[in-house]
Amino acid sequence: MKIAKLIKEHGEKICSVCGKPYPNTADYFYRTGGRLRPDCIKCQDRKQKNKTISELKSGVDYKKIVAQNKEIQDLKRTVGLQSENIRKHVNIMNFSEIEKKSLKESIKENEKWNKVLFTCLVIYILGSWLIILT
Ligand SMILES: [Zn+2]
Repeated sequence: MKIAKLIKEHGEKICSVCGKPYPNTADYFYRTGGRLRPDCIKCQDRKQKNKTISELKSGVDYKKIVAQNKEIQDLKRTVGLQSENIRKHVNIMNFSEIEKKSLKESIKENEKWNKVLFTCLVIYILGSWLIILT
C-alpha cells in the first residue's frame, strides 16, 4: 500500500483527532509556522467545513437579529410614549396634591359646620322636651 510505504520512508504521525496513522509529510498534514499540524488534512478540512456551515447558519440568524432589532426599536418607541404618559400622570398627581390640601381644608370646614348643626339640633331637642315636660 502506498501509505504504508510512505510511512516507512517518512515516519509515522498519528492524527490527534481521528487517531489514524499517516506518513509524517505535508501531503497528509497541513503546515503551520514551519511545523506540521497535529490533526490530519481530512480532519482539518472537516473542521473548516463545519466552521463554514456554522457561519452560514449564523447568517440565517442574522435575519432573526435584524427582526429582533426592529422589535427592540418598536419597544423603545412604545416605552418612550409610555414614559411621556407617566410624566403627564405625575403632573396630574402633583396637581392633585394641591387639590388634596384644599379638599382637606374644605372637609375641616364641613366638620366645623356639622358640629354647629349638631349642637343646634341637641339644643332644639332638649328645648322641645323642656317645653313638653313643663
Ligand atoms: Zn484525522
